[in-house]
Amino acid sequence: MSNRRAKLPVDPAANKAANEKLWADNPELKNRKLTMAPEDYKYRKAWMDAYTAAGGAVEGEKAKKPVKNVVKPCEPCKITKVELMVEKATLTLKHERECKLEIEVTGTNFSVDEYRIEIKKAGGADWCVLDRVNTLSPWKAVIAGKFKLRGVVKACGGEHLSAEKDVEVRFPSYSDIIADPTVKAAMDTEWQNTKDDCTQNPIIMIPPNQRREKAFWIILDTSTNAYEHSATSNGAFVGPTQGASVNPGARPGDNPNNPAICDGLGNPSLGAKYTVSLFHTHTSTEFRAAFVPAGATRAIGPSGADNNYHTAEKIPGVVYDYTESPVGSGSIPMGHPTGSAAQFYLSLGLDRRPTPN
Ligand SMILES: [Zn+2]
Repeated sequence: MSNRRAKLPVDPAANKAANEKLWADNPELKNRKLTMAPEDYKYRKAWMDAYTAAGGAVEGEKAKKPVKNVVKPCEPCKITKVELMVEKATLTLKHERECKLEIEVTGTNFSVDEYRIEIKKAGGADWCVLDRVNTLSPWKAVIAGKFKLRGVVKACGGEHLSAEKDVEVRFPSYSDIIADPTVKAAMDTEWQNTKDDCTQNPIIMIPPNQRREKAFWIILDTSTNAYEHSATSNGAFVGPTQGASVNPGARPGDNPNNPAICDGLGNPSLGAKYTVSLFHTHTSTEFRAAFVPAGATRAIGPSGADNNYHTAEKIPGVVYDYTESPVGSGSIPMGHPTGSAAQFYLSLGLDRRPTPN
């Protein structure tokens, strides 16, 4: 039995409303006041209900027992940590450009509305969305530079950022470039052409025993992930007493120059064309011996001028030249056969183009 009672002081308006409802619903009461007698029990209960409904305060009501086996009170939706896992901190265009990126989220009772993996230039301000995924496996880098990466998670009504991770995307090194089959085939072709252009003409001496160098710029197109090269430049034909050289022509600019990580529409760049190296050949001495002092030699590998040029261009130079003969001489003799062993040399300066900031 309830021990409900009106909390004192009794609310006059609720009291009046409760009385009127009780009498209206129960005309047999003939508007009399209730007593504490047992026969009034049901009327007292009706009156309390009406009093409560009219806004009257009640006390003495037993607390309702919680219903068992219903949903436990939820842990609040909360994100405690977002972390971006970056597989490698240093990448190389084409040769080691793939890198797994994964967002790890720690928290309670959350569901993620959106994942974003974002990148920006280390010295820049604008973030570019690489993709709206939890995991990029792999991300393929197509722009050289020093970058910041981060993961963003939308959950629990807000955005949560990971710490920023540094990634450097480098240009290919000299070793990467000379090992590439496409580049090597093109260089081998020009080495053969250089040998073919070295000719002896004992009858018509002008031009006598001519030869010439060849050169091209090596370009990496990161949108196709393939190497190409500029048109081959031929040096002037020279005679047996002259040194050979070649002007490679103007260096092709990167296209686009200083490519952005994202295009104007906010999409990640698909790539660029980068000039990554300069290649040239040196020439045979086979037909020079009769025209120079006995015992004369030619130093093999990059010349001082080659080294200076590549250093100034901040680019690795690849020189195709004969292998020294004899071993340890750093040179070849005059009259060295055109078909002798040859190899690639790195022209001094840089092993790879410097990474842009
Ligand atoms: Zn040279």
